[in-house]
Amino acid sequence: MNSNFKKLFDLNKSNQTFESLERLLFWDQETMMPKNGINIKTLQKKELASLIHSKKTSKEYKEALLKLIDIDSGQILDKDLDIDQKRCVEVMRSDYQKAVKLPNSFVSKMAEVSSEATHTWIEAKEKNDFAMLEPHLQSVIDLMREKADHLGYEDHPYDALVNEYEPHMTVKTLDNLFNPLKESLSNLTKKCAKNRADDSFLYGVFDTDTQLEIGKKLLLEMGLEEGNYRLDLSAHPFCMPVHANDLRLTTRIEDSSFHQCLSATMHEGGHALYEQGILADQFGLPIGQNASIGVHESQSKFWETFIGQSLPFLKGFYPKLQSAFPKQLGNTPLSDYYEAVNLVQPSLIRIHADEVTYGLHVILRYEIEKAFVEGKMKVKDLPEVWNEKMEKYLGMSPHTNREGCLQDIHWPSAHFGYFPTYALGNLYAAQLFNEMKTDHPDYELKLENCEYLFIKKWLEEKVHQHGRRYDPQDLIEKATGKKLSSDAFTKYLESKYTK
Ligand code: ZN
Repeated sequence: MNSNFKKLFDLNKSNQTFESLERLLFWDQETMMPKNGINIKTLQKKELASLIHSKKTSKEYKEALLKLIDIDSGQILDKDLDIDQKRCVEVMRSDYQKAVKLPNSFVSKMAEVSSEATHTWIEAKEKNDFAMLEPHLQSVIDLMREKADHLGYEDHPYDALVNEYEPHMTVKTLDNLFNPLKESLSNLTKKCAKNRADDSFLYGVFDTDTQLEIGKKLLLEMGLEEGNYRLDLSAHPFCMPVHANDLRLTTRIEDSSFHQCLSATMHEGGHALYEQGILADQFGLPIGQNASIGVHESQSKFWETFIGQSLPFLKGFYPKLQSAFPKQLGNTPLSDYYEAVNLVQPSLIRIHADEVTYGLHVILRYEIEKAFVEGKMKVKDLPEVWNEKMEKYLGMSPHTNREGCLQDIHWPSAHFGYFPTYALGNLYAAQLFNEMKTDHPDYELKLENCEYLFIKKWLEEKVHQHGRRYDPQDLIEKATGKKLSSDAFTKYLESKYTK
């Protein structure tokens, strides 16, 4: 390896190692930390964020970059670089340009304010007390607007924020995708309302150890490797990739409801497989990082719904569930189970939503956070606007803010611009799913036989191994031969739910 490139690689690897510590702190906070640990945790996060930012914007880093690329013009200066190295240098330049736009004092303030707001949010949600969160949310929004100004944007301040999670995504593209999607999801929700399948058998008493056992076994069958991951419990399931060989998954288990644990495990398993499929020897380079949060979400949705809630998968898997829970499921035929887990029913809580109404929850949040960033909406009006939109899009509105605008962690934790990635994930996944079916015409038979490794291999080849080699929309276009649109997802839902 060229010595100039090696120098930059080493510096970047050091930065990414510190970033992996940030992820470890998050995992600890959500799983193991005692409640009173929050004060030291806030300090840890603030100090670490400031340290990482200093390293990313250091004179040493800039000098290493300047040996390879003209930072202002983007012209590659080193003629020896191969195509992947050139791409890495270009991505590192763009990351550097973003990092230097944010003052260090701003970065540490952001970490502190969002940590406190998140901590307050937990209590505010418990007590159903929106007023308690209001001043904290106002501070976060002020900082978000300041952040957009620091980062700069062409058309819309929200573009700067969404780009943190989905490079090159804009309000213009999102509006073009979401407006027709909103309409087709609303229409489909209304059509599905006639189907009142009985899903009561999914609720009852289900032994939690058995649930966890089933989940763990399935993760291995999906292709996660023993020694690369651990599965714990948390209030909200997540997958925190400390590294490709250290994946921290959580799931949620309720003894009164069975399906949630399985779908959460498959969802987080999809996230984990993505990170496991990223080449570990590229750790420290952009090629060794995930392409975007939207692409990440496509991997989890692919497994959770496109596979996990499909008839061929359940044909193979359901008998295993029946033998694990003979009393609860023994007399329930597969067709009833399939209908129950795919029941479309508007609900108040996003994370409980089915695959048809889920997008409406996301679009509602997108519209609100965009209005906050534009300065068109006041924090005090949030509950009212939320409830109005819920009524309009889903035909129901919450009686408490706990089940309404206080349900998600994203705003207090300063993740403005994150919500759209959930919907993008579904759009990407639908396009990938079509392509996978073309490459594996016998996929249904394989799923019926409980063979899943071919999916892991296919996704590795099409998505995982590339890391950030391509921008997200280009990656999906290369993998599927089609530009990003909502067509594949809409068609998938229509053919599944209007049968
Ligand atoms: Zn996810």
